[in-house]
Amino acid sequence: MEVYDILIIGAGAAGNCAALRLLSLGYRVALVESSVFPRPQIGESLSPGIHGIFDYLGASNLLSAPHCQHQLPAEIIWESQQPLLLTPQTRGHGVMADRGLLDKDLLQLATSRGLQLFQPARYESSRHNGAHWEVNIQPYGKDALSLRARFILDARGRKAIRQQQRLLTAPSMAAIWAYVPASRMPAHTCVEAIPDGWIWGAPLYDGRYRIITFAAANTIKRKHLHDIYNGLLQQSVLFRQNKELHPLQSCAVTMYAHTQPWQDYRLQLGEAAFAIDPLSSTGVEKAMRCALQAVIAVNTILKGGDIQLAQEFYEDRIIKSVVSHTHWTRQYYAQAWPGTAHCFWQEHGGSYLPEKHISNSFTEKLSSALQEEKPVTPPPAEKAIDINYVLQQLWNGKPMVSPAISYVPSSCVVNDCLEIKTAIKHPNLPGTMAFLETVEIYPLLKMAAHTPTFGSLVTAWSQLMPFQKAAKMAIYLWDKKVLLPQ
Ligand SMILES: Cc1cc2nc3c(=O)[nH]c(=O)nc-3n(C[C@H](O)[C@H](O)[C@H](O)COP(=O)(O)OP(=O)(O)OC[C@H]3O[C@@H](n4cnc5c(N)ncnc54)[C@H](O)[C@@H]3O)c2cc1C
Repeated sequence: MEVYDILIIGAGAAGNCAALRLLSLGYRVALVESSVFPRPQIGESLSPGIHGIFDYLGASNLLSAPHCQHQLPAEIIWESQQPLLLTPQTRGHGVMADRGLLDKDLLQLATSRGLQLFQPARYESSRHNGAHWEVNIQPYGKDALSLRARFILDARGRKAIRQQQRLLTAPSMAAIWAYVPASRMPAHTCVEAIPDGWIWGAPLYDGRYRIITFAAANTIKRKHLHDIYNGLLQQSVLFRQNKELHPLQSCAVTMYAHTQPWQDYRLQLGEAAFAIDPLSSTGVEKAMRCALQAVIAVNTILKGGDIQLAQEFYEDRIIKSVVSHTHWTRQYYAQAWPGTAHCFWQEHGGSYLPEKHISNSFTEKLSSALQEEKPVTPPPAEKAIDINYVLQQLWNGKPMVSPAISYVPSSCVVNDCLEIKTAIKHPNLPGTMAFLETVEIYPLLKMAAHTPTFGSLVTAWSQLMPFQKAAKMAIYLWDKKVLLPQ
């Protein structure tokens, strides 16, 4: 039986992204997908950060497919009841894609690069035998198969996680949606806060417009789906002209993290690891970033690196993603015009105590990070500095490393593997920093102690990198008061 390095379950955004990256690192990768593609999939509004990921995967041409629409404006009713039109320049370069077709294209690309695909085939069970995983899959209409792999990446999406495995991070919602001809709506996306929830609508490439409502999960239990949907549309300004739409589709929207995203040589990724509120339209981007982080962790171990370091890195990244998104969402809900007089907004804009079914070091860390209320503030804009002028002024002065600096060990990604590097911490820096503009800072700062002038320091650094880059880094560190003139 062939042993794969990695077996991926699920060919959504996360599974495909992991497959493409692992293949480019030279691994033997197999993927099991239960559906025949293209299958309908929700999550068509892709955030601007998606471009960098597709570039990195060598897949950016897929975003030029006819089903991808670029740079749609957005009409928003949120902080006040006045509609606000946001141009693509202000909201960033998002993409509206057909997820079914995009996932199909990504999978096809991975197959053309050497992925061993089992589709349609369902993952059934797995057992770790001490050396590798033995995985049972059921191809449709054929005999069951057994595969072997060193790692399993579980990217089966939200439906694959049992309730006991979820740590809920926000109050649950219900989504209900239907389609209208695009001619009935404006040619842009619309978002509106209404007293009982919010509504999102977007034109699709095939002449339809999707209108999706989000309301508290319990509303769906009390009434008929049509009555709830129509009632929500009638509360709106942008969508109210649409009545009696059908067929209606619905799903539960829960925000959660898997209680054990890393278990032996098995990692949860994408929505099998955590699900965020659809409000930000960043679910696909986050699922792909999570997959890239899983690849770094797996690659570190397969290259003989430290297992604990890899696990800590992966779990910390998941915690950071969940916590920052949860805090951002809560803050955004709190700004909506209906305000706390309405139950939905009171619940979603206020604090939420995560429900814990399983207590382990991961859930403890996540719960306490979620409870630390940190307002999400955008980083201050960097002021423009005339580098040449400042450098001239500093050139003959003696540099000194600030006494306010401290040095901490930090895990860093170097050539797709994790390594411990010495990072610096300083009150003026946005966080712990080991690299600046892809150059390791610590060895550069050590040189400052033995260099008589700023000029000779920049000249010494320019032996390691282009002069302009060395000058820019020196001035950045001077501006942050990490390097001081004596
Ligand atoms: C109502 C709603 C609206 C959303 N809107 C947006 C949006 O506008 N923008 C955005 O970025 N995100 C949005 N999201 C989030 C987005 O849908 C997800 O983040 C994204 O689909 C996650 O990708 P994934 O690869 O983790 O999982 P999925 O895309 O769900 O892929 C999982 C795959 O695993 C396969 N699978 C499952 N079980 C098995 C098995 N046993 N064996 C083999 N294969 C299996 C499935 O067939 C599927 O192909 C929304 C979510 C919801 C609920």
